[in-house]
Amino acid sequence: MDRHGYLSVGDLMNHRYCARITWFAYVLGMKQRGTVKTEHGREQHDRWAAREQNRWREGASVRARSKLMSAELSSERLRLRGKVDALVAADGDLAVYEVKMGEPPARPWPEQLVQLAAYALLLEERHGRLVNRGYLHYLGGDVVREVAIREADKRIVRNLVADMQAVVGTEDMPGRAPATKCLDCVYRKVCV
Ligand code: SF4
Repeated sequence: MDRHGYLSVGDLMNHRYCARITWFAYVLGMKQRGTVKTEHGREQHDRWAAREQNRWREGASVRARSKLMSAELSSERLRLRGKVDALVAADGDLAVYEVKMGEPPARPWPEQLVQLAAYALLLEERHGRLVNRGYLHYLGGDVVREVAIREADKRIVRNLVADMQAVVGTEDMPGRAPATKCLDCVYRKVCV
């Protein structure tokens, strides 16, 4: 949560993983920077962004007329902010564009769809237009997939935001996640 009381899309994704992470971060003030895995991902991502600053190839592959890199977005209504990898204007619409590490899965993972929906809601508030399309660029294989952003995923985002605010507001510790999730969690040493 920043000094204006805004949570981030990253917080939202952590909360979706386990609500107790929000409690550690914003009730106890134990916010973690990330894991070795996320640091490695950030390096790969930064290399992509540097390359892309001067290149339009991926934009051309999604018929984009223009592309804005690393766009900061925020919603006063949701008290949510985030930085999307790129915004593209394609076929008269605006769309969000996110880069992912690894090979493309058979279908986008649910968390990737929720993340796109979160950025779509932020973009909608900024531009006053519906955003129903996104792109996922998998660096493994250099594959770009067009994705429909569904109202159901936007609803999940709104519910997650409300749930996060409830955890912060009540300060009640949420129940723990299934044990398999704890194996990869940076809070596991202090939590379970
Ligand atoms: S260790 Fe498990 S229960 Fe605790 S915050 Fe992490 S995922 Fe949640």
